[in-house]
Amino acid sequence: MAQIDNLPPLREVVQTYGLMAKKSLGQNFLFDLNLTSRIARAGGPLEGKTVVEVGPGPGGLTRAILAAGVQKLIVIERDSRCLPALQEISDYYPGKLEIIEGDALEIDPRALLNGRPARIISNLPYNVGTVLLTNWVSNPDWPPWWESMTLMFQKEVAERIVADESDTSNYGRLAVLCGWRTEAHILFDVPPTAFVPPPKVTSSIVHLKPRQKPQECSIQSLEAVARAAFGQRRKMLRQSLKSFYGDAQKLLEAAGIEPTARAEDIPVSAYVELANTFDRLKK
Ligand code: SAM
Repeated sequence: MAQIDNLPPLREVVQTYGLMAKKSLGQNFLFDLNLTSRIARAGGPLEGKTVVEVGPGPGGLTRAILAAGVQKLIVIERDSRCLPALQEISDYYPGKLEIIEGDALEIDPRALLNGRPARIISNLPYNVGTVLLTNWVSNPDWPPWWESMTLMFQKEVAERIVADESDTSNYGRLAVLCGWRTEAHILFDVPPTAFVPPPKVTSSIVHLKPRQKPQECSIQSLEAVARAAFGQRRKMLRQSLKSFYGDAQKLLEAAGIEPTARAEDIPVSAYVELANTFDRLKK
C-alpha cells in the first residue's frame, strides 16, 4: 500500500470518528491510496493548481489531491460527522485545505474561488452526481470556471455521459448536453471491491474538458428539444418533436434534418441546429 503522508490509515480514521457509511448520503468510501492517487492525477499534474472536491467524506481522495502538490483544495461536505477528520488533514497541510460544510447543490463554487480557475475532482455521491454535472456543464459563462472535471460515476451513468450517436443505447439528453460543451472520456473502471461498503455495480472515472468554442446555442432550447426527442426515442422525429414545435416537419426541414430520423440517429451538432432553428422560427 502506498504511503503518501503520515496521517493515520483511513480505516483507522473511520473508526476513530465513527464514520459508518450512510446510504442516504451515497457514501461509498475509498481506502486504497494507490487508487486515490491514480484518480487525483488522472486529469493531469496538479502542482500549483486549485481544486474543488465535492463529498470528501473521511478524506481519502482529499489526501491524494493534497499530496499531488495543489496550491489550494476546497472541499464541500454535507455530513458534519466528517469534519473532524477533514480538520486533521487541514492541520497537516496548513493553508492548503478549505473545508466548506454544506449541500453542494446549494453552493456555487464560483463564490469561493475569487475568479481563480479550478479543476473539479470528486468521487460523487451517486444520488446527486448527475444533477451536479448538469449544473456545472450548464454554467452561464463559457468557458466555465472549471478547467477540467475528473469524476467518479456508476459505469452505466458514465457511459450515458460520453456516448455519441454510434452508441444508441446510451445516447440521450445527458450525452447531448455534455457532448455540446465538453470533450468527455471514460478513463478507467473501478470495481465494487475498491469501496467500503462495496456498491452493487462497477464505477468509472470520467474526464471532461470544456470545449473552448462550442457552437452557439440556447441551453434551454437544446434541453427542450433533446427532452422531446429522447422522450419518444422509438418514434420518428417528425412525430416526437410535435410536443416541442407543432409543425415538427417544418422545423426539421428548416434545420436540414431528415424528418424520418429517430432521436438516436442524429449527432449533437444536429440538436444544436434544431435548437437554433427553433429560436429563429419562433421570433
Ligand atoms: N470522497 C470520499 C471517498 O472517495 O472515499 C467519499 C465519497 S462518497 C461516494 C460521497 C460523499 O459525498 C460522502 O462523503 C457524502 O457525505 C457526500 N455528500 C453526499 N451528498 C452531498 C451533497 N449534497 N453535498 C456535499 N456532499 C455530499
